Amino acid sequence: MRNLVNTESVSAHVRGLAAEDFPAYIYDIDALRQHATQIRAALSRPGAPEIFYAAKANPDAVFLKALAPFVDGFEVASGGELEHVLAAVPGARIAFGGPGKTDAELEKALDLRVERIHVESPYELKRLANLAGSTNVDVLLRVNLAGSRAGVALAMTGPFGMDPDLIESCHAILAEAPHIRLRGIHAHLASGLGTEAMLVQAQEILDWARPWLEKAGVVHPEINLGGGMAVDYASPDDRFDWQAYGLRVSELARPGETLRIEPGRAISVYAGWYVTDVLDVKQAHGEQFAVLRGGTMQIRTPVTKGHNHPFVLLPGSDQEDAPAAEGAVTLVGQLCTPKDVFARQVQIDRIAVGDIVAFSMAGAYAWNISHHDFLMHPKPGFHYLDSHA
Ligand SMILES: *Cc1c(COP(=O)(O)O)cnc(C)c1O
Repeated sequence: MRNLVNTESVSAHVRGLAAEDFPAYIYDIDALRQHATQIRAALSRPGAPEIFYAAKANPDAVFLKALAPFVDGFEVASGGELEHVLAAVPGARIAFGGPGKTDAELEKALDLRVERIHVESPYELKRLANLAGSTNVDVLLRVNLAGSRAGVALAMTGPFGMDPDLIESCHAILAEAPHIRLRGIHAHLASGLGTEAMLVQAQEILDWARPWLEKAGVVHPEINLGGGMAVDYASPDDRFDWQAYGLRVSELARPGETLRIEPGRAISVYAGWYVTDVLDVKQAHGEQFAVLRGGTMQIRTPVTKGHNHPFVLLPGSDQEDAPAAEGAVTLVGQLCTPKDVFARQVQIDRIAVGDIVAFSMAGAYAWNISHHDFLMHPKPGFHYLDSHA
């Protein structure tokens, strides 16, 4: 199911834009739908996990609405996300996770009857029991397993969930709280796992969770295996193999069990583009720079990942004498900081003032993690390519 990054509809749209329209986020909702259709199809066998889209990757309401038919629900990580997702997709199935939930957030989750709360600590479980009173609440306990996460983009070490010693204390709390219904275990251990590593980790979670849940007396247990499916910014066409994953993860499930996953990045990343134009090209101390309109205050991804963000160059300059460069060029933005780098010393045939640079893979952890107000440049426009709209 390889579906190469499709630049056609994006470049066609960009052709119709003027310089004042840049920078722009172009969201290819048709491509998002197509990708989600393929993921859904790959996870359709008996035993295949349910899919809850992790809203924090990109909570744009248009994304949420477009994804709704292809996912089983949404994972939210704050009271704000909870309200936002329910406003965009009324009646959606919701799982509410994240460390440091306040009483107000837990009350909101109870009021709005979220389907599952992922409990992150024994103290949170006690507070939830008190707040719920005689209202039934369905919870998964989040476990934080040790073990080697070598090679992952981000290991979720730290305050996420409970280690196997701490989670033992939940048995006693649950025994006193009959309205808290333990439905299963949640684990989100790392981000950036390829297909094989993801399957090994799934087995590890199941091996730990099954005896624990049996001891706790949970029938028809649910096991949430988390998100973190890898995307490769250095090679945008190399995608997580949902087909192979779907086949093999379904085989891990046992009758009576419900598996669930909550991917974010690997679902939405390919549907977004940050498109802008070249304002200046110059040399400084032997290095060639192209200065682009906008900057990493609008797409923070290359700074947080420390990578060269992938892009496609669309020649746009009609001036013969426009400043231009060939060979190794560093693409920077308008911020007054040397950290404002999209891509460093990348090989380019030719880049000139007036050319258009379309950064791909900007549909996840891009706009919504960025510090938009720094330097007060104009905000990007948002364009949705959606043939259903
Ligand atoms: C961020 C997060 C996800 C999604 O991770 P991706 O890498 O975007 O797939 C899923 N579950 C939890 C608990 C998270 O914190």
